[in-house]
Amino acid sequence: MNEEIKENTKEQNNPEHRKRIHTLKKMIVGILLSLLLLPTILSVVALGQIHQLNMQLNQSLLILSDLSMQVQEVRRIAEENNSQDVEIDTNASQPTGQLQQITMEDAAPSDSYEGMRKVCLTFDDGPSRNTDAILDILDSYGIKATFFVNGHPGFEEQYRRIVDEGHTIGMHSYSHVYSDVYASLEGFAMDTLEIRTYIRELTGEECVYYRFPGGSSNTVHTMPMQECIDYLDTMGITYFDWNVSVGDALGYERSVNAIVDTTMAQINALDAQTIVILMHDAPGKETTVEALPILIEKIQALDNVAIVPITEDVTPVHHVIQ
Ligand SMILES: [Zn+2]
Repeated sequence: MNEEIKENTKEQNNPEHRKRIHTLKKMIVGILLSLLLLPTILSVVALGQIHQLNMQLNQSLLILSDLSMQVQEVRRIAEENNSQDVEIDTNASQPTGQLQQITMEDAAPSDSYEGMRKVCLTFDDGPSRNTDAILDILDSYGIKATFFVNGHPGFEEQYRRIVDEGHTIGMHSYSHVYSDVYASLEGFAMDTLEIRTYIRELTGEECVYYRFPGGSSNTVHTMPMQECIDYLDTMGITYFDWNVSVGDALGYERSVNAIVDTTMAQINALDAQTIVILMHDAPGKETTVEALPILIEKIQALDNVAIVPITEDVTPVHHVIQ
């Protein structure tokens, strides 16, 4: 027995043994502290996230309530205007079957191009990897154009270039998915708010121009287009269709010659003071980029013509709603 006590005392006095006990104590204290602190830290993080979510929810509710009021206002205006006919002027000749009758209002307010035919180059569906090349070409000719953009994350620099280099940026819906954009007036309003906010946050520009995916005369949905038009009107947004198309929205790539020839033929046949040309700066439209310098030079060679971006001085071109 004495032997055993002696042995234990010897072991307790051993420095290695004391060190082990000390380490063990430290580990136990560490584990206890962790068990106490961990829930506290997790609670603080969770509270912070709940607060943030709460703020986002409040913001979304505010936007929704605002939107709901706007939709009600549009409905009210649409009901008031229901009996009014869309103004039609059949004077403008139409060079192709694809184009429809357009509404040409009185001359735009006086501006530096008064009396000249105005040609607006408009690019839909971008930005894309082709946008930089188009911007470079426009810059080399000192020309300003109009870009009706969709939401394309990854091309932030191109949105900024469009605005910084003095071109007009317009909306062409965020998603460009017909079944979403035209699902309902609420869906259209939400999509418009999304692209408008996206452009504002990237460029600081409050967009006031819109081009409907498929144009205002598209028949891809059953929703009354007039409701969308009235909604844009209440939001202070002007929509633009086109009266000349370079034909690059087809399923195949058009040759440069075909683009130039058909475009110039349409311009020459069109008896209108405002010419709005539909082009696309989407992926796969490389021949549009190649044709652009030739088109610019041919248009500049016409008498009494100015290539201008869309502004309040440009009379909107509207397809007639059927
Ligand atoms: Zn489009």
